[in-house]
Amino acid sequence: MSSAVTSSRLHVIPLDAQEALEEEILALKAREDATILAHYYQDGTIQELADFTGDSLSLARAASRVSTGTIVFCGVHFMAETAKMLNPDKRVLLPDLLAGCSLADSCPADKLAAYQESLRASGVRFQTVTYINSSAAVKALSDWIVTSGNAVEIIRRVPPDHEILFVPDRHLGSYLEEVTGRDMILWDGSCMVHEVFSVRDLLRLKKKLPQGLVIAHPECPANIREHADFVGGTEAMLRFVRELGPEPRDVMVATEANMLWQLQQTHPHHRYHPVPGITCACNLCPHMARNTLAKVRDCLRDGQPEIAWNPLFEKAREVVERSLLR
Ligand code: SF4
Repeated sequence: MSSAVTSSRLHVIPLDAQEALEEEILALKAREDATILAHYYQDGTIQELADFTGDSLSLARAASRVSTGTIVFCGVHFMAETAKMLNPDKRVLLPDLLAGCSLADSCPADKLAAYQESLRASGVRFQTVTYINSSAAVKALSDWIVTSGNAVEIIRRVPPDHEILFVPDRHLGSYLEEVTGRDMILWDGSCMVHEVFSVRDLLRLKKKLPQGLVIAHPECPANIREHADFVGGTEAMLRFVRELGPEPRDVMVATEANMLWQLQQTHPHHRYHPVPGITCACNLCPHMARNTLAKVRDCLRDGQPEIAWNPLFEKAREVVERSLLR
């Protein structure tokens, strides 16, 4: 029996079983009037089945345009929350409710509220600019929500006589300081995947591929970004690769490893090389990896886990809409 090895190489499903599962999902999707949205960091088998794949910004925008009664959000919890706040009347299912995010967890709402209060008590005039990788409770405490795709444009909207409190990713924050020239107060959070790329291994890879190009996500620390030919979020990476032209190139990629599947699908004539991590050579997000094809099937069949409406979504939605959808 032949096997289908998914892009993550973690879930090896016999090919006929995978095909049966995919057919089951498509039938349930039609029965439940559902749209499947999948982040670029999902396993390739899930991205392949999705109606729409994208980064956080494009998925938030896609969620606001969905016409079906149900959204299956293949991503992590804060993303599904965002889809629910933009679609209060729709059912939003997350295949695994425990699919969290180390970056979102690094900024609990109560700690942020206390810190904002201390800044106000010290007379600091500031606006809080929050990366979309944050809980709804944190979004509700924010003035702006940004993604790696729109952060520069949003930061330009903050009045120059206000300080910027940037949460929760200190690496993305320091990158934005470089790009915009604005000093910021940076929250001390980070993504467990992007923080662990190995500079030593990257330099070794560059030596092996002297004509190659390095593309890095801005959630990577400065010591990785400084060796990159291009720094940008996942949509920007796709645009960069699209513009490389027809000549095959070696592209070293410093972001979550499933992104290589999307690059391979859309621009197959280049050769992609994952930049290794210090602790794990594969650089897969363990939270994203919680979602599997079987769980996509189960959530459609059982109608759960479902993201429940929370009253604080109202305030969070206001900030998200002002920042991302207008
Ligand atoms: S890759 Fe990092 S930022 Fe993205 S969901 Fe995983 S832990 Fe969170």
